[in-house]
Amino acid sequence: MNQDWPIISRRSFLSSTLAVAAASPTRFGSAQTGPTKLILLGTGGGPRPRKASSASAQVIVSHNVAYVVDCGNGVARQLVFADVPLPTVRHIFITHQHSDHNADYGNLIWLAWAAGLSTRVDTWGPPPLANMTKLFFEMNSYDIDTRISNEGRVPLVPLVHVHEIHDGGTVMSDDNVTVTAALVDHPPVVPALGYRFDARDRSIVISGDTSPSQNLVKLARGADVLVHSVMYPPAIDRLVSRVPNAAALKASILAHQTSAEDAGRVAQAAGVKTLVLSHFVPPDDPDVTDAMWIDAAKSHFRGTVILGKDLLVI
Ligand SMILES: [Zn+2]
Repeated sequence: MNQDWPIISRRSFLSSTLAVAAASPTRFGSAQTGPTKLILLGTGGGPRPRKASSASAQVIVSHNVAYVVDCGNGVARQLVFADVPLPTVRHIFITHQHSDHNADYGNLIWLAWAAGLSTRVDTWGPPPLANMTKLFFEMNSYDIDTRISNEGRVPLVPLVHVHEIHDGGTVMSDDNVTVTAALVDHPPVVPALGYRFDARDRSIVISGDTSPSQNLVKLARGADVLVHSVMYPPAIDRLVSRVPNAAALKASILAHQTSAEDAGRVAQAAGVKTLVLSHFVPPDDPDVTDAMWIDAAKSHFRGTVILGKDLLVI
């Protein structure tokens, strides 16, 4: 495929969408058809496929528009289980380029298209998102071209508009949400982002993967919901003993994740109403009970703590 890649800058997208939004009488005036929903699609941390939980992904649905955050393995099927029609996927946000967050990034777009998607999709995330997208469609051009010629589908590539994000700041805004990003701390994966979604009725923050982050505290200030990745440090030894080819895995996890206790501290410092624990590391250790996760987070947070589960609607 030699089609030109439709990359537009964040600034040009913002100015165009903000201009449209400002001119639209429905921007804040239309009736709310229902609350903005957050659905946890995958709550396990790490790329190893597991029975217990799917890989990192969540979707925010506002006025029947789906904003997907992260695309761990199985995200398209999890959306089906969540009763979110795949053709309603409009924006995809990637927090960082780790396989438990991006393995099904291309697959989601491709399979949503096979399920009927025929409208624009904007994707947002750190480099090399543009090249990943381009190579993904090249790799799968045989199927894509066949379905266009044989099934009469609209061309897929021109639907997809990629925006690489290098810094924190306003990402995009439309009739439903304003999205803001912050740089979080997930060495050596740089940049790694957290995202805040301000809808008319509520604000939702997704931490991405990070060690305790002051930028995240600022991003989440006063939010209704903070979804924070968490680890349980005493169980990390048992986790790494099950992964035979990763000698430095323990040090890596401890350096770039946040304990459930510290997630509580972050939530308290940010003054959020509800802390949702997700991206559990380890994801499937029977010796770490639900109560242990919750108690750890509650030890430093006075708001509501929710233990994330796949397909939980919040
Ligand atoms: Zn990661």
